[in-house]
Amino acid sequence: MDMDLLNDLPLRDSLKSLEPYAPLEGSYPIRLDANESYFSLPEKIAKDFSEQVSQLNLNRYPDPYAVEVSKGFADFYGINTDLVTASNGSDEWISIICSGLLQHGDTLLTLAPDFSMYRFYGQLYGLKVECLSKDSDLNISAEAIAEACRKTKCNAVIFSNPCNPTSLGIGKKELLVLLKSVKCLVVVDEAYMDFWSEEESLLQEAENFPNLLILRTCSKAIGLAGARLGFAVGNRALTQVLRAIKSPYNTNSLSQLLGTVVFSHPECLKTCIEEIKTARNNFYKTLQEYVQNTGYGKVYAPLTNFVYWELEGNLAQEISDFTADSGIALRKMGSALRITAGSASEQETLMKVLQNFYKVKKGES
Ligand SMILES: *Cc1c(COP(=O)(O)O)cnc(C)c1O
Repeated sequence: MDMDLLNDLPLRDSLKSLEPYAPLEGSYPIRLDANESYFSLPEKIAKDFSEQVSQLNLNRYPDPYAVEVSKGFADFYGINTDLVTASNGSDEWISIICSGLLQHGDTLLTLAPDFSMYRFYGQLYGLKVECLSKDSDLNISAEAIAEACRKTKCNAVIFSNPCNPTSLGIGKKELLVLLKSVKCLVVVDEAYMDFWSEEESLLQEAENFPNLLILRTCSKAIGLAGARLGFAVGNRALTQVLRAIKSPYNTNSLSQLLGTVVFSHPECLKTCIEEIKTARNNFYKTLQEYVQNTGYGKVYAPLTNFVYWELEGNLAQEISDFTADSGIALRKMGSALRITAGSASEQETLMKVLQNFYKVKKGES
């Protein structure tokens, strides 16, 4: 691409080095790379939605405060709907926090490894992004985060809990200590909390802290990655600010309706989440056995719907290339692999391919 066309435009300097997000190329019958739910919309939910969708006035703008779906979300998690604001995916909140709550030159603290979007949006909007590395066992204490907040004098700290990509978590008790000991904004991205435990969630604490924002998404446990629906939860003052700075019609009518219908079937949602947790536990156990038998790297006990697998040398690349040839997409992250827990049959197929990989590899040496 000839980016010199930008030379005469009075735009931001850094644009030339940016590249559009490159989605996975080729077709993969088994997708274990994006931590989506393996459940498609349950039949009775699909039926409810299709009955109601014809009554939507799509010639009109959506409800700017997404009242119905915010109430559905709040009821599902047992919180006050006044503290909830919906968005076009929780990614939108990360962008709004970096561009609207913070300003150019402010310092944003992130952790490493963690979700790459924090750094991306931070840098895009001209924040100073400081990065605190986790320990060699991939854990990090709340005390270490608090110390880094003080040392960097950051305006905000953001991290996922439980973490993408490590699948490890920081307990609620520890995070309460962090919240009390720092003055900066603390953004806790709970995209995968449904797979750990609501006991570890900070949702019930939103009202108790001036500096706490929690992000949740419908893209993972709720099974609506295609609908782009996220939520920010914070005290009333922060909520008013978020509602003031977001674009008014950020959450479209179709997604609002779909989310409302989905949250009106809480039992169905809970059943899906429990099944995914069981699938995750089974997958971890099977992969752990494989790791013990082959001596390939190390897997970490997962709290999310995916497993983090640290590997040596070029193995992550070799394995993901090998599974890709069999139509299975995994996510390579440096020298590690992040693998979503798929359905039982997807897991079975993956393990067969991994066994094959081992045979081929042994044959070579
Ligand atoms: C998947 C994911 C999200 C979800 O983003 P959406 O825009 O709501 O799809 C947010 N944070 C983390 C850490 C994630 O892994």
